[in-house]
This record gives sequence, C-alpha cells and structure tokens, in this order.
Amino acid sequence: QSKHNEKIESGTGDMEDFECTMKPHAIPIVLANNDHSFCLDEDALSKVLMQDNIKDRHVVVISVAGAFRHGKSFLLDFFLRYMNSKYVHKKNISDWIGLDDAPLDGFSWRGGSERDTTGILMWSEIFLTELANGEKVAVILLDTQGTWDSKSTVKECATIFALSTMISSVQIYNLSSNIQEDDLQHLQLFTEYGRLALAETNLTPFQRLQFLVRDWRFPYEAPYGAVGGQKILEKRLRVDENQHPELESLRRHIRSCFSEIACFLMPHPGIKVSTSPTFDGRLQDIDSDFKNNLKILVPMILAPENLVIKQINGQKVKARDLVQYFKSYMQIYQG
Ligand code: GDP
Ligand code: MG
Repeated sequence: QSKHNEKIESGTGDMEDFECTMKPHAIPIVLANNDHSFCLDEDALSKVLMQDNIKDRHVVVISVAGAFRHGKSFLLDFFLRYMNSKYVHKKNISDWIGLDDAPLDGFSWRGGSERDTTGILMWSEIFLTELANGEKVAVILLDTQGTWDSKSTVKECATIFALSTMISSVQIYNLSSNIQEDDLQHLQLFTEYGRLALAETNLTPFQRLQFLVRDWRFPYEAPYGAVGGQKILEKRLRVDENQHPELESLRRHIRSCFSEIACFLMPHPGIKVSTSPTFDGRLQDIDSDFKNNLKILVPMILAPENLVIKQINGQKVKARDLVQYFKSYMQIYQG
C-alpha cells in the first residue's frame, strides 16, 4: 500500500503491467463477415467479462459510435488516460490528461484512409471504479467501426449502432461539425432497429445518449461545451406546430428511446491533429481549447458521480449477464 502511494506521489505516471503479461488492447467482439452477416467472439467476450473480480459487478458500458474518421478512437484513448490515471479521485486535478510529449495510444486511431472493417471493439482491461456508496462497478469501453458511406454497408452500420446502443448505458453519438437532419434520420433508423429487437415493455429502452459534435465552428452562436450543446440540441429536437409530421415524429421517436439526451460541442483540435502525417497524439500538438474541453467532457462521462449503471428492463446488469445479452441480441441480427 505505502509503496503504491509513493508511486502516486512521485507522479511518474507510468503504468507498469506487473500482474498481467499481456498489455491491455482492443478486442474485436463483433465483426462483420464478408457476406454482411455478423459474428460474436463469445470466447473473447467471456474471457474478459467472466473474470472472477469482474463477473458479479454491475457494469457501466460506454460506447462511441458514428461515421468513420471522425476521431472516435482518438477520443477513447483520452478516456483510457482518465481511467488509468491515479489522480481521478482528487477533484479539480486534470493531470490525468498526461504529459505534453507522450504519444497517445490505446484504441488505434491513425487508420489512414484505408477502409476499416465494421464491428465492435472492447478494451481488454475492465476498470473497477468505486461509487460514493462504496460499490465497485466495472467500467467497460466500446469502440465501434463503420464506414457509413456506401449503400451496401447501411445495414451493417445500423446493426452495429443498434447493438452498441442496446449493450451500452451511455452511447456517444460522434458527429462532425453539426447535428444535421440526416444524422437524426440515421439515429431514428438505428434506434428503431434496436427497439424492435427488445422485449415489449413500457420502459424507455435506452439510457443516456450523448451527442458529441466535433469541430464546432460557431462558438459565438453557442459556446463550446455542454451549455452550448444543450442549446443546439433543443433547437434540433424542438417540435413545432407548423412542422412537417415526419419531422415531428422523428423527434418524438428519438426522445422516447432514451431516458436522457445531452450534447457537447467540441472545438477543432488544430491543424496538426487533422492533417499532419507525423502527429502521434502528443498534447503539445493539440490546441488548448480542445484540451480544455476534454478536461470537462471526459469527467462528465467517467467521474464516479457521473457513471450510469447499465439497466435492461429496469434491472441493473452484471458483467456475467452482459455476456448473455450480447448472445441473444446477436441472434436477432443473425437472420
Ligand atoms: P475514427 O475512425 O472515428 O475512430 O477516427 P480516429 O480516431 O481514427 O481519427 C481519425 C483522424 O481524425 C486522426 O487522424 C485524428 O488525428 C483526427 N482527429 C481526431 N479528433 C479530431 C477532431 O476532433 N477533429 C478533427 N478534425 N480531426 C480529429
Ligand atoms: Mg476508430
């Protein structure tokens, strides 16, 4: 214990993997086959979720979904930094964000322009976080991949989005520059896909939906962060008297699917992040506006007081249950 504390105080920040020989990594859990069907790697999933210290914990499942090459994996690597940090229990300390010259690793984010496969990845390390009431919950991070750019893959993307929404307690819908009408149409399609698969109940099917708008360019219209996000969200999801019935029902549908909907506006991360071929994720190459907003966004999702425990049909879900839910949800889409 005292040795551990020493390490915290010295603040070297290096996470030695002394217990486990395998470095934490992304595990493909759901993958699209060439014929557009899907397969679940049940063994890999069980290996992670059925570990003795994990299987009976309630889970918090954070997923990031949205089109290819909009910084989803990049963002998740900051989630990893936060979860791995020894500073998180100390309020108002943002050292978790890391050293200025440290490359950013974790989920692979420098895909270049080659076509990515469609699927769901799970981080192999499950983080145990203590809530205010002393309960330890298991925090699971999911990355999703999809191109969303050709007709043949719309069904694939809908399936991945639906599955990740059904499995997660917080779905982060990552968008570029704004919330457009077609982003909402996609969301309607994807959630309808998911909702049909669920048992008929009066309960709201999904939990928290977090819109995340990247490269927001109008901070004078709506400021970066959650307050500006709320303003934009209200505008986009407003139901007006003179609205076309289709637009109205789209909005009602989206609201009825989630128990909580929020939006956060992120500034552009700077030219090096978006264009430099040698950029390796180090903080010194990222605009400070972006970093300052990361310091707000990440704890908003991951601080112990903000964690959302996964519920299905009103029941809190344990890691071992999640394996079963994954299997039964997969079966629905296998047809
Ligand atoms: P993913 O396909 O959505 O997972 O995207 P990646 O995380 O792999 O990132 C794709 C590229 O976008 C990388 O070159 C990143 O440097 C860059 N990137 C990351 N975040 C942002 C952002 O907020 N805005 C812009 N314009 N680019 C970003
Ligand atoms: Mg990615």
